[in-house]
Amino acid sequence: MGKLFDELAQDINYQHGMNACLNCGICTAVCPAAEVYDYSPREVMNLVQTEDDELIEDLLKSDKIWFCGQCFSCKTRCPRGNSAASVILALRRLSVRHGFFAESEKGRQQLFAKRVFGENMLKRGYTLTAENITPEHFPELGENWEYYFEHMAEMREWWGVPMDLENSPGSHRRIPEKDMDELRAIYEKTGAIELMQAVEKGMEKKLGSKAEVEKFWDNWVETADSRTYKMKD
Ligand code: SF4
Ligand code: SF4
Repeated sequence: MGKLFDELAQDINYQHGMNACLNCGICTAVCPAAEVYDYSPREVMNLVQTEDDELIEDLLKSDKIWFCGQCFSCKTRCPRGNSAASVILALRRLSVRHGFFAESEKGRQQLFAKRVFGENMLKRGYTLTAENITPEHFPELGENWEYYFEHMAEMREWWGVPMDLENSPGSHRRIPEKDMDELRAIYEKTGAIELMQAVEKGMEKKLGSKAEVEKFWDNWVETADSRTYKMKD
């Protein structure tokens, strides 16, 4: 048993998700991510239960832990009552805390999760706002979305669900500040803020400077593809 494994074993998601795995592969048979990626929850569970820190570190630096879609189908079928989905969550947290996520392309997408979903939550109480869904980045939404995007405010007035209306039932409403304070306190207490900071720090360590992280980000926003940034070896 090593240091990384010890830390993993402290995570409540790990404790809930891992009894002994008998390596039967049922989780992989039902896993939708295993259909399309080089990914197998059985393999992850089996590797983790070796308690070998070197293997766990390699896993935390790989794309694999980011392929899971958190559908929890694996949990419903496991004969041992395991939840690979929960173990994956604990592994992701560990990967972010130690900066290992920045070693993989899928892991680096945590910067998007932090800067868009995380920061939106802290500012507005939603993970995604309509302004984030730009027609340039989501061309598949077609002309109707393009029209809506350009005329959002006036269309919502017309529908009777104006933008930024406090206490309105509509989406894009303003959540009262006292509720936002409560939400921010939950983020603080549960360690979510710390994880968000760890994402920025991990990216800075990997890319060499804050300025380079901004270059990585600007390139991503411009091209809508994190893979177009040329990583230095
Ligand atoms: S279904 Fe359960 S016991 Fe079987 S490999 Fe997956 S986690 Fe292990
Ligand atoms: S939660 Fe993840 S590992 Fe489990 S079945 Fe869904 S995608 Fe696969």
